[in-house]
Amino acid sequence: MSITQDIPAVGGPELPQERRLVTEIPGPASRALHERRTAAVAAGVGSVLPVYVAAAGGGVVVDVDGNSLIDLASGIAVTTVGNAAPEVVSRVSAQVAAFTHTCFMVAPYDGYVEVCERLADLTPGEHAKKAALFNSGAEAVENAVKVARVHTGRSAVVVVDHAYHGRTNLTMAMTAKNMPYKQGFGPFAGEVYRAPMSYPFRDGLDGRTAAARTIDVVDKQVGAENVACLVIEPVLGEGGFVVPAPGYLAALADYCRDHGIVFVADEIQSGMCRTGAWFACEHEGVVPDLVTVAKGVAGGLPLAAVVGRAEMMDSVHAGGLGGTYGGNPVACAAALGAIATMEQLDLNARAREVEALLTGRLRELAATFPPIGEVRGRGAMIAIEVVEPGTTNPDAATASRLSAGCHQAGVLTLTCGTYGNILRFLPPLVAPDALLHEAMDVLAEVASTVG
Ligand SMILES: *Cc1c(COP(=O)(O)O)cnc(C)c1O
Repeated sequence: MSITQDIPAVGGPELPQERRLVTEIPGPASRALHERRTAAVAAGVGSVLPVYVAAAGGGVVVDVDGNSLIDLASGIAVTTVGNAAPEVVSRVSAQVAAFTHTCFMVAPYDGYVEVCERLADLTPGEHAKKAALFNSGAEAVENAVKVARVHTGRSAVVVVDHAYHGRTNLTMAMTAKNMPYKQGFGPFAGEVYRAPMSYPFRDGLDGRTAAARTIDVVDKQVGAENVACLVIEPVLGEGGFVVPAPGYLAALADYCRDHGIVFVADEIQSGMCRTGAWFACEHEGVVPDLVTVAKGVAGGLPLAAVVGRAEMMDSVHAGGLGGTYGGNPVACAAALGAIATMEQLDLNARAREVEALLTGRLRELAATFPPIGEVRGRGAMIAIEVVEPGTTNPDAATASRLSAGCHQAGVLTLTCGTYGNILRFLPPLVAPDALLHEAMDVLAEVASTVG
């Protein structure tokens, strides 16, 4: 096809909310850019789908060839409020024009303070809280560990199977999956211990029993009195959108409290409305000591936070936490715009609607497509686990065929999981129902050619 499209220069919710393919995927303009990229960008930096983006908003990503793809990725759970969300754009524009950086550690500004105030309000629990801001999720996780170590005077960090906490040296040690995150990058940070995770589809255990199994490893192999913190994602992200059995998180939180261990909820992927609550811990009635926040918090700008009990956060000496860019004023303005959007559009309620729509459609598909072993997730964090029919044996090849088929048809999907056999759906919460239904139609169509 050779129709020349007007490529939009402005994104946001005003973009036509449609799937529109005008070239093959990727098209000629994307392929030309990809050639330049291959010559200039390090090969270790990958891309799921090399369509080069011109504009995005609502539930679509428009590429440089004029194709409009349905976005079921949100840039990995980041553009929860949509790309170029109006409240984010206006506040960022005003902030950029006022000042771009002073460094909060040199000369502070109110946006940083307001983000900390808002996060203290929004995170679970009524206790006194304080926060500190950083640039990336991994940096937030590292700083949560710093706080926990100073507060407890202990060094061990406990994480679980299938966990993902980042790509820095400490967080690589905390991340479970070797390829591609860790391969060749060791030696890794010490004093990181891994315990089993509740994974109902695979272990069939109720929450109490799964927690007892986790706790047994901590008790016998590490010793509770050596543990500074337990760091856990309330819904696993990269590890496969695993929702632990009911009661699992609460039992771990009780154990931590009884043994003076700091309970850290890594809500970098699950937080900020993604699961239909401000934080996924709320679904389990769990109040963490510290919460790490990033991804969805700032509408696409790099911002991360550690939020938690004031006495824990304040145990670190003055000057012990910080960084040149942490809590950059433009990123803070974006976060305040994103939070305002979440409140104005009631995106927690919207995430629950998305859950009903996606799980309904996926369960229908599962009834006719046996490789779907399980449909699971919370809110707009929904996945299918692809297995050899009738077993729990992971089938990564079929998962990647499904994902690639969706890409070719103009639906941006992601896979995840330790075995790479999980297809995950995490649309922006401002994507209209019609687009989500169309994406599910495409998936069903692809499945009919793959099964
Ligand atoms: C993405 C992610 C991180 C790392 O965040 P970066 O911003 O990529 O450093 C940590 N924990 C969880 C749960 C994540 O999903």
